[in-house]
Amino acid sequence: MMQKKRLLPLELKQLEALRRRIDPCHSQLGAITEEIEKVKGNYRRNVDIDNVLHLLNDEGLNLFHDLQLEDDWGVLSLNTLIVAKSFIAIVDVLQVEGEVTWKWNQFIAHRRSFPERIPNPSSHVATLKIRLERWLAQHSITAVPINAFVTYTEAETFLITEDSDVPVCDFDQLLAQLRDLHYFSPPTLPEASLISLCDLFKNSHVSSKLNVLEVFNISESEVLKGVHCPDCRALPMKRYPQIWQCPWCLFRSNNAHQTALYEYQLLYKDTISNKECQEFLMIDSPRNSYNLLTSVKVKSQREHKGREYYLSPIL
Ligand SMILES: [Zn+2]
Repeated sequence: MMQKKRLLPLELKQLEALRRRIDPCHSQLGAITEEIEKVKGNYRRNVDIDNVLHLLNDEGLNLFHDLQLEDDWGVLSLNTLIVAKSFIAIVDVLQVEGEVTWKWNQFIAHRRSFPERIPNPSSHVATLKIRLERWLAQHSITAVPINAFVTYTEAETFLITEDSDVPVCDFDQLLAQLRDLHYFSPPTLPEASLISLCDLFKNSHVSSKLNVLEVFNISESEVLKGVHCPDCRALPMKRYPQIWQCPWCLFRSNNAHQTALYEYQLLYKDTISNKECQEFLMIDSPRNSYNLLTSVKVKSQREHKGREYYLSPIL
């Protein structure tokens, strides 16, 4: 059963919002674009693997994609978690495109003009396994054995090895091993406990947002303000009573501010004050800013002058 689907990564939306809101000549533009391509590639590879794992949906296994749990070390990010009566499996993906060699206990990627050693993903999943065991123990669950796998997408990664002890497996090996565990391991969880465990995972998921400005060392003053024109993408549109108009292509919109508020949320925080809204959207008066904020039906907190408005419903 699909318990949690994989969505477009929040990190990708944040990075794209940042790229839209810095000067086209900014020194970090190249680094941000490179990171966007990396996150997109990882997402594409994850979806390829998901499509194969979905074959297990019909076999009574519970699938969670992109599950994030809070533990003593921060956020425990699990690419894919499979939960069954007899086992739990962590499935991670070798995130490399192109030719990879496994030799002398090392992965060497050949994606650039020179060979590049990449971290052994089996060490990473071993750490995830220990953290998940501790997280489950804190919820009084100790009976279910946890297995960890690393796989790769054969459409994008070409693995070359003569060793038999390579710590990653292809799709077919992965499915065979998961089916072996499912059909030949003794059940350790009654049906009711399995349902409770799946509910626990679902209810414990936390959404973690990056501080993208800090990651790229970009100050708030470098972030471009205003509302983008939905037609020609120019910045900023001018606010007239009830309408936005682009001064360059004259396109008119009555809801272009919604995207700008969404980008504010991606880059800063889930609440906004009237003053912050006025400044970010470049509106000429506090009254017009207030009217616009209330028109998007945001909830407010604190009944005084420093009132903040929740933006969560539009994220
Ligand atoms: Zn325009």
